Amino acid sequence: MFEAMTWVDEDVLLDVLNSTPLVDGVPQDLLADPAEARAWLRQRGGEGSAQERDAVREVRDALQGVLRGALPVSALGPFLEGAGCRPAMSEQGVEWSLDVLPGRAMSVGVVLAWDAVRRARPGRLRPCANGECRLFLLDRSKTNRARWCSMAVCGNRMKARRHYQRTHQPPAG
Ligand SMILES: [Zn+2]
Repeated sequence: MFEAMTWVDEDVLLDVLNSTPLVDGVPQDLLADPAEARAWLRQRGGEGSAQERDAVREVRDALQGVLRGALPVSALGPFLEGAGCRPAMSEQGVEWSLDVLPGRAMSVGVVLAWDAVRRARPGRLRPCANGECRLFLLDRSKTNRARWCSMAVCGNRMKARRHYQRTHQPPAG
């Protein structure tokens, strides 16, 4: 009935959030195709089941909404359903493990990973500042001034646009 949780780290959390990129202006879902989703999930510590894929897509959509300010944090509540902590005695003392419903290890892990990032790095997981980009970034820098999912893609694109606007503005006056 229950299975152990797979730990979801920051990189996998970001991969999940960024699995709906825009390609040539068309929204994609990297988890839409069952076979591709299975490989994608397994590469990131998941089991690759259809149940897991559905749960990850749902938690992804909700979490994207929360990070964009379109949904309240409470929208993530249902994804924790059936999860519980279980203490067990080891040589070192009591150790806690997390039990989840079948196929929910990764989706629960995503919520827990988001919460851990939110506490440890408040405000640093955020949408790319390019309004035409659907990706998210986790700013790990000291200055916390990153605005783009990637300097190579959105950073340069937005710089070029600003440069174009500056150099093509009608003369004032
Ligand atoms: Zn971007």
